[in-house]
Formats: sequence, C-alpha cells, structure tokens
Amino acid sequence: MVTKELVYREFDELCTKYKKLAPPERLNDGWKIEGEFDVIDADGHRWDTYGIRILIPPGFPYDLPILMETSKKIEPSADWHNGNGICCLATNAIIYNVLGTPISLLKWMDRFVHDFLANHIIKLKDKSYAKGEYPHYEEGMIVGYKEIFGLTTDAELLKRLNLICGVSSLARNAPCFCGSNKKYKRCYLSYPNEHHHKIPISLLNSERIQITNWLNINRVAK
Ligand SMILES: [Zn+2]
Repeated sequence: MVTKELVYREFDELCTKYKKLAPPERLNDGWKIEGEFDVIDADGHRWDTYGIRILIPPGFPYDLPILMETSKKIEPSADWHNGNGICCLATNAIIYNVLGTPISLLKWMDRFVHDFLANHIIKLKDKSYAKGEYPHYEEGMIVGYKEIFGLTTDAELLKRLNLICGVSSLARNAPCFCGSNKKYKRCYLSYPNEHHHKIPISLLNSERIQITNWLNINRVAK
C-alpha cells in the first residue's frame, strides 16, 4: 500500500541530496520538481549544469518519473534521445529491472538521470556515447530485453516473453525456462511473479505484443 508519506519521503530524500531542486509542486496529475542538475564525476569535478523538470505521475512509485531537459542544451532529436524535451533515459523495462518497485526517486536520479546527462557531455566531446546506445522504439526494446534475459536471438526472446506472460507454457515436469534447474511446475507455475525481472506484468505484456508485431513486419524471427 502506497501512502502519501512514502511519496513525500522520496521527495525529501531527493531534494536533500540535490539542493538545486525546488520543492515538489502538486499538479492535477501528479507532481513536478524543477531545478538544476550538476553533472559531477567521480573525482568531484563539475562537468556541466542542466536545467531539468521531473514529472512524477500519480501512479508513482510504481509508474516511472519522466525527465525533461529545460536548459535546451540537448538537441531535440532521436539522435540525442530527446523527444521534444522528454529525455529517453533507457527502456522502461531496463529501468524497472534495475530499480524494481516501489521506485526510489533518488536511485533513478543518481543512476539514470546522471548517466543520461553525463553521456550527453561525452557524446558532444567524443561524437559517440560512452557505452554505446540503444536503438529506438521496438528495436530498443528488443535489445533491452535480450540484455535483461541474457538471450541473443529474436526467436528466443519471443519464446521467453510468451512464457513469462503465460501465453505459452512448458510441460509441467520440464525444467523451468529461467535456468533454476527446478521443474516448471515447482518454479514458474508456483511463483510466476518471480520470473518478471521486477518489470510490471502489464508493461511486459504490452511490449510483448508490440515486439511480436514489429518482428512480424520487419524481420523473420530466427
Ligand atoms: Zn523458473
């Protein structure tokens, strides 16, 4: 059960560490936190400062916050993962897989916001992102899920998503698909939620459908 206190504790924690953020403002649909973000490296050097707006949906801490870059330092284009000011930090599945729920706003900021902005500075200097980048839309989802599940082919990925979402199944006594060495009936069938990789089943299911359709149109799954 999410209490208002829990949400406000998250805000407190964030604004205590990031002093250049104004206190959260209540909106009709969620909250807004605005201010500046200093990108500081491991040696304590400040690389640059960005204006940011964090939009927190009413479903927080189960729904992900949205980052907007307000200082207009990042070109609004797919190349820079900036869609009209909304920054594409990573795929939603990857963020959930790393943070789990309830989402810690501070961890989201320390990890995803920091990396996104630091990477912008690196790309300006070196012409490419430090650790490469994900493609967009379905292609990005596919790469992200393969990474999360440790799979390489599209066919393996579709099979895994169908099993996790309960769209297809294995024989009850077969080994579980997760690699636990337990029987399917004692593993997935008994504890399906433990196979979600912290990703909400609603997201897994809608992206499974998107990925399936995209692969049907664009690739022959091998
Ligand atoms: Zn399992």
